[in-house]
Amino acid sequence: MASIGEGIRFNTSVVKGFVTFSQVVGWALVLVSLAILATWISGVGPLLGLVQAHAGTHAGAAFAFMLAGCALLLGQRAPRASVALSLLLMVLGGTGLLEFAIGQDVVIWGWLDALLPDWLGRPIGRMTDIAAVSFTLLGGVGAAVVIGRAVWLREACALAVIVIAMATSASYGLVLAGDSTILLRQLPIMTAAQFLLLSLAWMASVPTTGLTRIAVADSLGGAFARRLILPALLLPLLLTFLFKAVESQLGMSESMALALASVATGGVVTVMIMWVAFLLDRSERQRRTVHVLREDARTDALTGLANRRKFDTTLAHALQDKGEGALVLLMLDIDHFKKFNDSFGHQAGDEVLRETGRLLSEVVRTQDLAARYGGEEFVIVLPHSDVLTAEHVGQRILAAFHSHEWLHRAVTVSIGAAVAEPDDGPEDLVRRADEALYHSKQEGRDRLTFAMEQAG
Ligand code: GH3
Ligand code: MG
Ligand code: MG
Repeated sequence: MASIGEGIRFNTSVVKGFVTFSQVVGWALVLVSLAILATWISGVGPLLGLVQAHAGTHAGAAFAFMLAGCALLLGQRAPRASVALSLLLMVLGGTGLLEFAIGQDVVIWGWLDALLPDWLGRPIGRMTDIAAVSFTLLGGVGAAVVIGRAVWLREACALAVIVIAMATSASYGLVLAGDSTILLRQLPIMTAAQFLLLSLAWMASVPTTGLTRIAVADSLGGAFARRLILPALLLPLLLTFLFKAVESQLGMSESMALALASVATGGVVTVMIMWVAFLLDRSERQRRTVHVLREDARTDALTGLANRRKFDTTLAHALQDKGEGALVLLMLDIDHFKKFNDSFGHQAGDEVLRETGRLLSEVVRTQDLAARYGGEEFVIVLPHSDVLTAEHVGQRILAAFHSHEWLHRAVTVSIGAAVAEPDDGPEDLVRRADEALYHSKQEGRDRLTFAMEQAG
């Protein structure tokens, strides 16, 4: 199933899958944030270790993620509430940034600290500057998605957050491998993962707009995007982990590990390119096969002309959409062909049919269609034509048969022509051309008769 927008065909089930993904992320964020907040307030629970560890999400961030998750879930059902939550998220992130800028508490965080005092014995955990930037950006993304404005600015903000999350995951790869001098230590990996999911979920919640519309396209490009994006996003984490691990485990020098990392990066990119090239190549070959099969289905094997099926559809279309000029149909029948077969054999007869195919295709104009109607009967459809042109074509065919050097004996053809009347269906036109052809036979063969001459 597919739907169309901006010329892109969307794969409906993938579109639905993306929307479901965004809702699942919304629920997951709300539930995980609630669990973290509950753990933080109660001081007990399975997540306690996580909350306290540097890898975990602070209560302050959990609160912000809960807002973000709710905004995501409410996006379609309650747009105003969703936008309000996103704006609140922007305010939280913005004030967090302001704190860093001016170096002191700003209203909201000071207020939260006052509201949740030592009573809990645990600090709420201030946002790091990177988290504050990310929340501000994501608040803007959420509001823009729901309002449906500033698509490219929105996508740029979402991408910026994805870059932050990837840089964090890359530096976390180093941490996992045992290096403590990390690049983005301020941002816990769990928070980074939630940022990544949140930006992807906002983008996926309106899949037929912005960058995601390529990923839900019902095309080869869409299939590539769906398969490659996730591995590409996880690559930094994998590579940094792998090479820090190699460096520390094998005692390799930093420059050696760096060289290896570059080789691996190049290798991975090459593998991806090869894979894409392989799939493109296969699809190109399939497309060519389909093209050949389609052509075969419309072609008469013996003469190489169009077959009856192609003639039927062409004539029906030409009658529906006549355009300028008249539509003329010529019907041809080889004279005394039975006798020819009887005298020289069927193979010689087949050769005459092949030669006829060649002669007819030489005579017709590019917009005309010459087809084998059946047996030793042929038709020529002349759209945007007139009686004079049709007469000319008919006479050229007769002349071509005369001048052709036939192998066994001279072969001639009889032709009937009919001009389409305004209300003609295909059967009417074919019947009149056939009657004119019959008249040519009656009159001694090897000639052209127009349906109206014969009627008059
Ligand atoms: P007329 O001038 O009245 O058209 O005489 P005719 O002998 O051509 O007419 P008729 O319709 O009686 O015979 C047509 C012959 O065409 C009969 C058949 O053997 C031959 N024929 C039809 N299809 C083929 C084919 O694919 N190959 C060969 N070799 N002969 C064919
Ligand atoms: Mg016949
Ligand atoms: Mg015949």
